[in-house]
Amino acid sequence: MNVPHTDVVVVGAGVVGLSVAWRAARRGYTVTVADPAPGSGASHAAAGMLAPVSEVTYTEEPLLRLGLASLARWPAFAAELSGEAGVEVDYRTEGTLDVAFGSDDLAALGELADFMEKLALPVDRLTGRECRRAEPMLAPSVRGGVLASGDAWVDPRRVTAALLAALSRQGVTLVTDRVRGLAVEGDVVRGVRLARGGRVSADRVVLAAGAWSGSLDGVPPEVLPPVRPVKGQIMRLRGDPGFLGRCVRGVVHGSHVYMVPRGDGEIVLGATQEEMGFDTRVTAGGLWELLRDARELVPGVTELEVTDVFAGLRPGTPDNLPLIGRTALEGLLLATGHHRGGVLLCPLTADFIAGELAGEPAQDLGGAAAGPPVAAICSPLRFGPGRAISDPHRWKKEERGPSPGLRPGSPAPEAR
Ligand SMILES: Cc1cc2nc3c(=O)[nH]c(=O)nc-3n(C[C@H](O)[C@H](O)[C@H](O)COP(=O)(O)OP(=O)(O)OC[C@H]3O[C@@H](n4cnc5c(N)ncnc54)[C@H](O)[C@@H]3O)c2cc1C
Repeated sequence: MNVPHTDVVVVGAGVVGLSVAWRAARRGYTVTVADPAPGSGASHAAAGMLAPVSEVTYTEEPLLRLGLASLARWPAFAAELSGEAGVEVDYRTEGTLDVAFGSDDLAALGELADFMEKLALPVDRLTGRECRRAEPMLAPSVRGGVLASGDAWVDPRRVTAALLAALSRQGVTLVTDRVRGLAVEGDVVRGVRLARGGRVSADRVVLAAGAWSGSLDGVPPEVLPPVRPVKGQIMRLRGDPGFLGRCVRGVVHGSHVYMVPRGDGEIVLGATQEEMGFDTRVTAGGLWELLRDARELVPGVTELEVTDVFAGLRPGTPDNLPLIGRTALEGLLLATGHHRGGVLLCPLTADFIAGELAGEPAQDLGGAAAGPPVAAICSPLRFGPGRAISDPHRWKKEERGPSPGLRPGSPAPEAR
């Protein structure tokens, strides 16, 4: 299949690739998106929490700053997307309640609240009684909590559906085929080669293939994104609307568990975090752990109907930060490696890539999140000087060898 020349081809139609394609098309670029199964990856698994505050950790302040900057873009992103696509994305802003049980849990949560306050994050400490007043389904044993009222959430499956509808309105071409590799002429990317034959010729390629981003043929080893799959199992349950009024999370038996309510009564219960390679099997043990822990938090959860179970692969990176921006290979940009936060980070990622396509100066994060610009935090070039191409011809020699871009144990998406 040969597709007419396009300004930009986006590899991967998860929330990240679709958001990039949408923002690029709105700027007037001709865009093609290639994916054998749009919306079927991690974006189909995601709970949709937009929760940079309640997910803050002591070592990840740059990620917090990215998350806050992207969260600030979500209201306009959701409104514009819903308006253009005619699909509501269930954007909700009632915040996250993080709760603790034993005295050790409570002390740890108190220390985290100290850290959040030091960073000037808007949080309120609640007693056990105040937690139950806010969320009557919580277990009587809850000792206290921290309410992050600025956190929000969306339904990622609706976001994907809305983006696909918006792309269709923008005239974006969707090719339902796997990209086998890059088409390179000289030292410049000229498009992509498709698995079923043919190519899409383009001025720029944006690689947004999630956990599979490191598996494309013909990408120089120096440029290949260091992305690995991090498995997450998740369940969807159905109760009465209002079963929970906001996202509820806690640490039970040492593992994190959360519940995310949707407007229609759905409760998303997640998630495991497993280093299992490209394994997307849903296991009895994974589901059992989720239910066991959730029951401690909200005993009534076991009464709910199970409507869906799923396992997705988060695109993890060595430093848990995404890879967004230009690579050392002319014409190739990355929008990948979003790990646990791709839904949260898609507005920021899409705006940043659209700015890069237009050659605009790199944006600062602005406001309370001021500090190093996005380009510095997310640069695909940051993994050491060895990752820059010192000899641009070196990789072309390697390309003739046995599939240098393929890593062992990384099946193509249709083999999932
Ligand atoms: C259980 C779970 C819960 C999560 N909860 C949250 C949450 O609450 N909030 C949040 O912000 N994030 C969450 N995440 C993380 C989030 O889902 C990811 O960061 C995000 O979906 C990544 O989006 P993506 O578009 O990069 O990748 P994906 O959604 O994985 O999309 C990649 C796409 O690329 C396609 N593809 C692969 N190879 C090729 C190829 N060669 N050619 C063409 N196409 C290809 C695939 O078919 C797929 O459609 C969660 C993840 C999991 C697993």
